[in-house]
Amino acid sequence: MATLIDTKAPRPRHPEKQARSDTPALPKPAWLRIRAPGSPGYDATRAIVKAHGLHTVCEEAACPNIGSCWEQRHATMMIMGSICTRACAFCHVATGLPHDLDSDEPRRVASAVAELGLKHVVITSVDRDDLADGGAAHFAETIRCIRQAAPDTTIEVLTPDFLRKAEALEKVIAAGPDVFNHNLETVPGLYVKIRPGARYFQSLRLLQHAKELDRRLFTKSGLMVGLGETRDEIVQVMDDLRHADVDFLTIGQYLQPTSKHAEVKRYVPPEEFDSLKRIAEAKGFLLVAASPLTRSSHHAGEHFKQLQTARQGKSA
Ligand code: SF4
Repeated sequence: MATLIDTKAPRPRHPEKQARSDTPALPKPAWLRIRAPGSPGYDATRAIVKAHGLHTVCEEAACPNIGSCWEQRHATMMIMGSICTRACAFCHVATGLPHDLDSDEPRRVASAVAELGLKHVVITSVDRDDLADGGAAHFAETIRCIRQAAPDTTIEVLTPDFLRKAEALEKVIAAGPDVFNHNLETVPGLYVKIRPGARYFQSLRLLQHAKELDRRLFTKSGLMVGLGETRDEIVQVMDDLRHADVDFLTIGQYLQPTSKHAEVKRYVPPEEFDSLKRIAEAKGFLLVAASPLTRSSHHAGEHFKQLQTARQGKSA
């Protein structure tokens, strides 16, 4: 018997998750309700992003802050396409076989950064395990193009873990970003479930090595909470990050993108974020941002200035 395949059916965004049972999202508490995006600034940002044929993590990851960020033209570019080779259980970015690298993309990103008038830009990417260097050369070229087109803009890269990609990190750091960010995302005990393709100690080592390669660099990492981690596990991650000499920690609430994604176990109340922030500050981070809607690139420009001030204060 022949099997009929409907070639016109839309490709699922996360093919690997289709067989999973549905988990309806927990109703959101009042502190997580946000205004729908829409303002002249939002429209202008969207028009510039589209005119340059770019992807943003703001849209692809369904970030709740898109309305407020884009109103101020703060878009976080996502390079190397919109399809990720990993299949993390928390992430809304589409997964599957990616397209070929677009060699003109670094130039277009730089041109959009200049047009948006960004003082500080965050560049992130999908995971590209299919590329020999994980896309490190593309990151480096994007940094160089931005330096040319927008010389006063400070640059933050939020990279994949470059697992099993020798010399990849070195290529990125040699291009001279101002901030190197790589998110641990969750506590080590949840890696198998939440980041099955990643290794906790590889991610930690990446952050440590970035600082070893360039002591002037600010390093940064982020955690999501509400996935079932304990407070002790979060505190242990803080210690691990300090041991790796990471400067800046962000902590935000995990939100479930679809019923096929990992479930939200708990909405962490704002006062618990305040308490985590105090603990992290006491451990010696230069900066800590912790709130339900904190995301790695949220207020990244203001945070960069605060990092500079904090480091100057510390050396004085
Ligand atoms: S927080 Fe980051 S990802 Fe979210 S909308 Fe703002 S810039 Fe984009």
